[in-house]
Amino acid sequence: MKPNIRLALFILVVAGMFAASLTGPASFAGPDRPDIAALVDRVEQERLRAHVDAIDEPRNAFDQPEALQRTAGYVQGELEDYGYPVRLEPVSFSDATFPNLIAVQEGTSCSERVFIVGAHYDSVRDTPGADDNASGVAAMLEIARSLADTPLPATVWFTGFTMEENGLVGSFNMAMDAAEAGLEIVGMMSLEMVGYTTEEGDFIVVLGNTASVRLTGAYRRAQEYYVPDLPIAILNLLGNGEEQPDSRRGDHAPFWDRGYQAMMVTDTANFRNPNYHEPTDTIDTLDFAFMTNVTRAMLATTVEYLTYDGDADGQPDACSGPLIATPTATPEELLEESPSAIPEAMPTSVVDVDGLPEASGGAGDGGLSGSFVLWLAVGALVVAVAAAVALRRSAR
Ligand SMILES: [Zn+2]
Repeated sequence: MKPNIRLALFILVVAGMFAASLTGPASFAGPDRPDIAALVDRVEQERLRAHVDAIDEPRNAFDQPEALQRTAGYVQGELEDYGYPVRLEPVSFSDATFPNLIAVQEGTSCSERVFIVGAHYDSVRDTPGADDNASGVAAMLEIARSLADTPLPATVWFTGFTMEENGLVGSFNMAMDAAEAGLEIVGMMSLEMVGYTTEEGDFIVVLGNTASVRLTGAYRRAQEYYVPDLPIAILNLLGNGEEQPDSRRGDHAPFWDRGYQAMMVTDTANFRNPNYHEPTDTIDTLDFAFMTNVTRAMLATTVEYLTYDGDADGQPDACSGPLIATPTATPEELLEESPSAIPEAMPTSVVDVDGLPEASGGAGDGGLSGSFVLWLAVGALVVAVAAAVALRRSAR
């Protein structure tokens, strides 16, 4: 790992921890729901493997256009098999045109609001792209299949993004069109490499921005209730992650930039997987038990987020609430109300980077004391600013 990448990761972690302190009172209202638990159980590991196996070949828009077209056909065919109408939205870049694929599930009470579950289906050249991003496509397909007979209050778009590897082309176009049309996107999750683990790196990272704390909050509840064995790290970055460029490498970023709630779900890509963008990114390197847990957690997040009535007005917040979160309290007030606003399950292997002190012992250790969290937040801000300055200097 290059020093500037280590530094960037360090900044990402500490700034994220600081931002996490701004994420509002942790709300764990609501018991485990048998309906969500039953849906979660529908996710099948062997189906995930079959999807990856079906599309793990080099499929770049400019180098392997036939393979990319074949992949698009596979994704469309699967979604149609589950009973969805699939819309193709052609996107052009240079002399290539490929579609964003959108399976639409109409919402039952606020169908004008849209939630996007997306994954890019292309790869860079010369890699089978099993983790990047056949894994995300497989997870998206399995969530779509599992929810096919379960409409939710808001409309859901199960989406295959095209030409991510050429500069977020598919997602950029979708976010731009949505914003121009005034589309009410209530949230977006990007499944971006969700299948690789190591002994130390066995957790999934969920990256949100300041505006998407309600969305990441839903993820946190979903994981806690339905997939408690999955180690997680949740980071809500300040602003749109401008100070952490690595946090913007995915299809969620164009949605952040258009003012929508969005989050990236990732195994941390090149920070963990040595096969990233290499011919060795193959199906036999993936951890399908992990991928199954991640898929279950994201399915549960989708249902939890779109049905949760945190303000108890009888309507899901996703229908009656604001489209994005607006911080209403100062960081100090939030910390006093909710010392556990820092992710309790921050794995030590995330924070143990270049001398950063360990923040917590991992999942289930009961949270942190308020004063420690305050110290951590203030310290993190100072370090983040110093590191950003250092990075700027080294970039010159
Ligand atoms: Zn990718």
